[in-house]
Amino acid sequence: MSYTVTLIPGDGIGPEVSAAMRRVVAATGISIDWEVLEAGEAVISKYGSPLPDHVLESIRRNKVGIKGPITTPVGKGFRSVNVALRKALDLYANLRPATSIVGVPAPYKDVDLVIVRENTEGLYAGIEHEVIPGEAAEAIRIITRRASERIVRFAFDYAVNHDRKLVTAVHKGNILKITDGLFLNTAKTVAAQYPAVAFNDRIVDNLCMQLVQRPQEYDILVLTNMFGDIVSDLCAGLVGGLGVTPGANIGDGIAVFEPVHGSAPKYTGQNKVNPTAVIRSGAMLLSYLGEQQAADSIERAVRQVIREGKSVTYDLKARRDDPTAVGTQEMADAIIAAL
Ligand code: NAD
Repeated sequence: MSYTVTLIPGDGIGPEVSAAMRRVVAATGISIDWEVLEAGEAVISKYGSPLPDHVLESIRRNKVGIKGPITTPVGKGFRSVNVALRKALDLYANLRPATSIVGVPAPYKDVDLVIVRENTEGLYAGIEHEVIPGEAAEAIRIITRRASERIVRFAFDYAVNHDRKLVTAVHKGNILKITDGLFLNTAKTVAAQYPAVAFNDRIVDNLCMQLVQRPQEYDILVLTNMFGDIVSDLCAGLVGGLGVTPGANIGDGIAVFEPVHGSAPKYTGQNKVNPTAVIRSGAMLLSYLGEQQAADSIERAVRQVIREGKSVTYDLKARRDDPTAVGTQEMADAIIAAL
């Protein structure tokens, strides 16, 4: 059996980590026909948009894609391609597991969290404007019952399917009484339909402190868009950083996988950064396709290479200037050898 998967290599470090992921996936023996398409600033002059229609059409047709990071200009320029992609394809659930890996320098050794972030509304609706030019500006945060209900339901379904015990809804309902009140009340209504999974809620600032002190007390976190963005990076930090943390954007019958990290432009083309996050995103993709054995074998191989600590990139060494650190492709070679 062969699968067709859309691959957007991205920019910055995207193409090099994506190439490493392709080689590792190929080494599992699963046959994938990659439809490689470009997006981002570099294609604007050719197609008139950083996210051309044919890229969206390819993902709609294949129902599954994987992407490297894409640079978004700060404070000016085009809207984030990542956000536009999630909205255009209604990939409403951003799924980011944050699990400790033996050998990764990290503040904790026993974290096992799953962050479920709403991906289509909240502050990311991107509705902002100047009220008085240069003096005052405002952004609008959209929360709907429909989007809240489906993201909380996604979190509970994930708990049921992955034998997890607790879902925590994260909010700021003490201050944002109307918007986060709607999110929290909707979460409580959905939770009542899943009696086998425990449910609680936390105010986001308190949750951040507790995650830093006792992350073991949490299991699945479900959050609105901006809080989810921030808390998922915090959780990536608990388990050793962006270089190892995979992610997925999932809708109904369609999914795009991507590492949590960005395009780290300063490392472009240096064969230096860690390919683990995108390789593990590739494993999540294989699992989504039903190729669980191949997915498990990648996860095992990644863990073995990191545990041995020899053929790993600079960020996984105790000292970042350790001269024995290997490059992106060499770490991928070690993972392939371990498969
Ligand atoms: P970043 O994740 O690109 O980099 C932050 C730092 O994290 C890097 O300087 C590096 O030290 C480290 N890092 C990141 N990936 C690593 C890896 N694979 N291996 C080792 N170290 C790694 O975040 P940023 O600097 O805030 O963003 C840069 C650009 O990426 C921005 O334009 C931003 O919009 C974009 N971005 C894109 C996505 C996406 O495509 N989904 C996500 C986040 C940021």
